[in-house]
Amino acid sequence: MQTTFRKIGLIEKYRQHLPVTASTPVVTLGEGNTPLVQAQNIPKLLGYPNLQLFFKLEGLNPTGSFKDRGMTLAISKAVEEGARAVICASTGNTSASAAAFATKAGLKCYVLLPHGYVALGKLAQAIHYGAQILPIKGNFDRALELVRELADQTPVTVVNSINPYRLEGQKTAAFEVVEHLDRQPDYLCIPVGNAGNICAYWRGFKLYRELGITSAAPRMHGFEAEGSAAIVRGEPIKNPETIGTAIRIGNPASWQEAVRAASESNGKIDSVTDEEILSAYKLLGTAEGIFTEPSSAASLAGLIKHLKDGTIPHSALVTCVLTGNGLKDPDTAQKVTSVDLTPVDAEIDALKKVMGL
Ligand SMILES: *Cc1c(COP(=O)(O)O)cnc(C)c1O
Repeated sequence: MQTTFRKIGLIEKYRQHLPVTASTPVVTLGEGNTPLVQAQNIPKLLGYPNLQLFFKLEGLNPTGSFKDRGMTLAISKAVEEGARAVICASTGNTSASAAAFATKAGLKCYVLLPHGYVALGKLAQAIHYGAQILPIKGNFDRALELVRELADQTPVTVVNSINPYRLEGQKTAAFEVVEHLDRQPDYLCIPVGNAGNICAYWRGFKLYRELGITSAAPRMHGFEAEGSAAIVRGEPIKNPETIGTAIRIGNPASWQEAVRAASESNGKIDSVTDEEILSAYKLLGTAEGIFTEPSSAASLAGLIKHLKDGTIPHSALVTCVLTGNGLKDPDTAQKVTSVDLTPVDAEIDALKKVMGL
């Protein structure tokens, strides 16, 4: 039976804008086409009732982050080019995504992770999808250096965002934002780690403007975590720190292109503190019913900062990209909110008493 609800991956949907041919073997897990959900309560709670705020829920991709958009293309091209094995350095989500798509394509997948700094759910995913996991005694930036060297010396294809197909796949998220809103947002707020995703969105918005699908492009506002804000400070950071492990990066791979994306769009790259990240993270849960990982909340934290300091007008149409799913990091969710989990007697009266009813 034909159904209009058939979910196709983003390569099929946006084939004409992507570097594929009819003979590219498409490796898909049904990624893309994620919801764009309007905020119901946050604008009023913040005191900006005219703000039109939308969240792009990238945590609803098959492995729970936007990384799947780039990975479907990177792995499809790797298969097309005859690769047998892929490798990546990862703070967690790239490894989960690479492992899933590599497995589907029948490729071997190696992942280098900074030991002790990967959220539990992400590690569980990479294990579950059958990658060979190599925790290293070093941070992400060191892991990426090692990956580059290994790729020079051995027949493995790198699927980090230095792989040119990653950002090409990721730019499809901008197409979807435009299609869901039926126009471009005024501002796009997005977390910045390796700074690839902000470049990918800018490529997508620019293309749609060039094609006349939109008349303008949004201003790109990217947000690093303060303890890892290499671009904001203008120099690499040797020991980056932040609660947002996905953006705990001291030497962003797409630094220059990200700076260009911000300046060409009349936007800005700024930083937010861990405290601001966590408060936005909690607000998403308690005010909007959205569970993201802490790194993702940097986009909302940054928006709040730029509304307060007047950088973003209070009645703007804004899209905040929520990059990954909160279920990946249950530890942080439990740590940041203290709830009493003492068991209650399994009796109605005891429950009523505790419930205050
Ligand atoms: C990878 C990642 C980021 C950072 O994206 P970049 O392209 O490296 O700037 C942010 N949030 C999550 C959840 C991620 O997985």
